[in-house]
Amino acid sequence: MEQERSGGPIVAAFPVRVRYRAGAVGETKRVVHVAMPLRDGDYLALCEERLTAADAEVISDLLGMPCMACTRVMALRSRVTACEAIAPELEAG
Ligand SMILES: [Zn+2]
Repeated sequence: MEQERSGGPIVAAFPVRVRYRAGAVGETKRVVHVAMPLRDGDYLALCEERLTAADAEVISDLLGMPCMACTRVMALRSRVTACEAIAPELEAG
């Protein structure tokens, strides 16, 4: 497992939902971010918030209040994809 130690790729290619552990920050900051796991164990959220491995907990269910900034980035991304899919159809019609 030398490759993993010397700095392999990102652990997973899909985003996970993470938030700060209880006590790491105030309750109002414990929103659920959509984040990519980094190879050092930290998480980088879509809203560019970086959660360290020690302070983060992964959420497997649809619990907690979602981070508005992350939600917005997700919505913008899916809208771009949707527009690209719809555009040719509109021209044809
Ligand atoms: Zn966020």
